[in-house]
Amino acid sequence: MVASVVKPCNALTVDVEEYFQVAALAPYIERQQWDRLSGRVAESTWRVLNLLARHEVKATFFVLGWVAQHHPDLVRAIVASGHELASHGMEHIRVTQQSPEEFLADARRSRDILEEVGGVAVRGYRASTYSIGKRNPWAFDVLNGAGYKYSSSVYPIRHDLYGWPEAPRGPFWPSGVAGQGIVEIPVATLPMGGRCFPCGGGGFFRLYPYWFSRWAWQRVQKLDEQPGPFYFHPWELDPDQPRVAGIGWKTRVRHYLNLRRMEGRLDMLLRDFCWERMERVYASLLRDGSA
Ligand SMILES: [Zn+2]
Repeated sequence: MVASVVKPCNALTVDVEEYFQVAALAPYIERQQWDRLSGRVAESTWRVLNLLARHEVKATFFVLGWVAQHHPDLVRAIVASGHELASHGMEHIRVTQQSPEEFLADARRSRDILEEVGGVAVRGYRASTYSIGKRNPWAFDVLNGAGYKYSSSVYPIRHDLYGWPEAPRGPFWPSGVAGQGIVEIPVATLPMGGRCFPCGGGGFFRLYPYWFSRWAWQRVQKLDEQPGPFYFHPWELDPDQPRVAGIGWKTRVRHYLNLRRMEGRLDMLLRDFCWERMERVYASLLRDGSA
């Protein structure tokens, strides 16, 4: 039986980057090589746009400034399709590798480029590899200063590459005062056995069978009675992407596992739950309340 749509409406988010720009592959592909590699982000993002159109779902696209510079038509297509345009920084450099000054310049520049190319206001930010955590809480002040209204840069889990397990599971104001400054909206997690279990997307969604992700997502909604953000990448819908040579088994599993199953699983996820642009789902939390 086809499941009925489950309320409340959740935030669907897409991190738009090339397959060779992900953090797990960074040790194997130099940044200077990027312009010489044959890009696939336009094609795979179109696959996402078509998938969302089939389900009549609007989402938030966190796009790299680098992608906007190389594929301005793609950014305009995202906006023309009714999706929210948001920033994923300039070149996928983790916040943990930047000084506050460098991060401010990066956050401002990506926003300026996206606004110029897309012709719309950019209000949301997602840090590369969820790299805002207890080591760099200053990053929220920087984002506030750069004009962003919300961030979705925290994954409250334990992980070797990212994660801030002590962070709240739901939206919070890093300023400590509700309504003051930027609001952080962490990716969805499920509390189990005293820990937060990742169910908000990425490699975990490809790792688990769909029935498990569906069960976890239903549990989260029942428990929290509020929406949660889910994320994925266009390169996860591109099973024929070139294989990067010489990478370790862990990286290989993380990046390539179940790529062929991804689109089918997303089809089911979009069918089984309600999805919307992030700024609309969380409109009541944003300072000016508009969406
Ligand atoms: Zn990313």
